[in-house]
Amino acid sequence: MSRAVLGVALLAVTTLLNCGGRQADYVSTGSLCGVRGLAGEPIPDVAGPGACGIDNAVMVRAVSGIRLTSPAQVNCTTARALKSWVDNGIKPAVGRKGGGIEALQVAASYACRGRNRQVGAKLSEHGKGNAVDISAILLRDGSKLTVQDDWRRERKIMSRIHQSACGTFGTVLGPNSDSFHQDHFHVDTASHRGGPYCR
Ligand SMILES: [Zn+2]
Repeated sequence: MSRAVLGVALLAVTTLLNCGGRQADYVSTGSLCGVRGLAGEPIPDVAGPGACGIDNAVMVRAVSGIRLTSPAQVNCTTARALKSWVDNGIKPAVGRKGGGIEALQVAASYACRGRNRQVGAKLSEHGKGNAVDISAILLRDGSKLTVQDDWRRERKIMSRIHQSACGTFGTVLGPNSDSFHQDHFHVDTASHRGGPYCR
């Protein structure tokens, strides 16, 4: 093996090790938005286009030691609500099933678009950094609970997860709400005059 090849190989191994270490760190530590257990980093606020944007923008990568499959781009209010939902709702509902929770599958967070991706509809809470869509809970044994398949199959766990978001979030939508929410839970921190809207 030539020296150059050896060098490249060593560099690759070192890089891999470093990445592994960093990943473990961000899952276990962090205090984004002044909350211990929220891991990720602040990002520049998003302004526009139009009414879209995020104040106090952050990229959440893990919540209470649970990894997000893709980082959630939200505001701090929503990041804190997510932490509270994980601690007080999702974790207790799943318990030790499948060895416990490995990760939350994030289907969407910030996106400048109309409600339910309909053109011309009112701006979605996703366009303000107020919303997260969760489509599945990945378990440590490699199995998962998906909203699509387990809403009925694992009724008790899934409805407990859904109900526990209500109040922490102003809007909670699941398969019982409409055809747009058959495969994910939509939660957002909008406040409604009549109290939280949960379906
Ligand atoms: Zn949504």
